[in-house]
Amino acid sequence: MFIGIIGTPCSGKHTVAGWLVKEHNFKALSLCESKHDDFHPLIFTSAENLLLYVTENWDDNFVTCDIDSEEILASYRRRPFFLLIAVDGPVMLRYERYRNRKCKLEKPLQSLEQFIESNDYSVFQYSSKSPSHSPSLSSSLYNMTSTSDLTIVNTFHELSCFYSHLAALEITNNERLRPMWDSYFMYMADLAAKRSNCMKRRVGCILVRNHRVVATGYNGTPIGLKNCNEGGCPKCNLGSNCGDKSDSCLCLHAEENALLEAGRARVGEESILYCNT
Ligand SMILES: [Zn+2]
Ligand SMILES: [Zn+2]
Repeated sequence: MFIGIIGTPCSGKHTVAGWLVKEHNFKALSLCESKHDDFHPLIFTSAENLLLYVTENWDDNFVTCDIDSEEILASYRRRPFFLLIAVDGPVMLRYERYRNRKCKLEKPLQSLEQFIESNDYSVFQYSSKSPSHSPSLSSSLYNMTSTSDLTIVNTFHELSCFYSHLAALEITNNERLRPMWDSYFMYMADLAAKRSNCMKRRVGCILVRNHRVVATGYNGTPIGLKNCNEGGCPKCNLGSNCGDKSDSCLCLHAEENALLEAGRARVGEESILYCNT
């Protein structure tokens, strides 16, 4: 497993990476010298070299916090062993962490306003100093965060509480990379539900036999009729409650549609129907 961690300033990215190194024997990888005391990553000259190293050592687990562009993220994303984690937290709490860290290093401190300004720049590529500059969201943290596999919200003051939270998340569970069969078919049922046209309910289902999809279904009016959400079912279109004059509803359930599509012969024995409601 190769975990990439992105996040807002002082949200706890390196804390998560350090925890993975300590608790799960991950190896830290970096594209620059680390500023973090207890972090001793292997340094690489480019993202390609880093990815090559991870690929060659596929039996090991790695973590990096150095993903500062969408290009690098896209190159990592192509690999099935890659997982993206985004970390965030309340801005005032992050500023408090920043002050505590900087005080130890005796560096000049940013004011809260400056901290928020640099935070906005990293998240939105926006600066109030040059508001006319059109933000390039394609390289912003906001854009990359929206594609993360897991978001961790760090509202913890105590490190031990944050570690307990990380343990409870089961970050290294392999199902995060490759879903088991049941999760896989439930994702498909959720996708089928998006095709639902019934105004009353959005439901999808997948009929499966021996891990093979036999048929899919979603609720809505029968084939050949106008879709429910386009005026095809008088009952649904009037917003009547379930149970009132149910014989006047033309819509079919997702399960009915999947079974009709499969037909008796193809349903067979030991089939499983995955339905998302
Ligand atoms: Zn309907
Ligand atoms: Zn109806």
